[in-house]
Amino acid sequence: MSRLKSAKEIPIGGLIDEAGSSRKFKTGDWRSFRPLIEESKCINCMMCDVFCPEHCISVKEDGKRGEIDLDYCKGCGICANVCPVKCIKMEEEAKFIK
Ligand code: SF4
Ligand code: SF4
Repeated sequence: MSRLKSAKEIPIGGLIDEAGSSRKFKTGDWRSFRPLIEESKCINCMMCDVFCPEHCISVKEDGKRGEIDLDYCKGCGICANVCPVKCIKMEEEAKFIK
């Protein structure tokens, strides 16, 4: 196991000292709600993707909505809120823990 940095070794102000490192931080780790999409109702408007702060909703080659990357989905519920046909439902993450 790698040694944690001491307080003196951490950059002042918590600066990000490595470019392009955001992919390393899996924001899905602290999700307490999970978005579930009712596929039959989706009209592929992509509003969910436009407003997702993590940009974790993929777009397929044909321009239609793809899957939600749960490694990065933090469960904020913005996608459910902006979906014009209300086909995204937020479910408690605890239901999916085995
Ligand atoms: S819940 Fe938030 S982070 Fe997850 S897909 Fe929806 S908008 Fe993105
Ligand atoms: S906002 Fe709703 S209808 Fe539009 S692509 Fe996303 S899930 Fe489908």
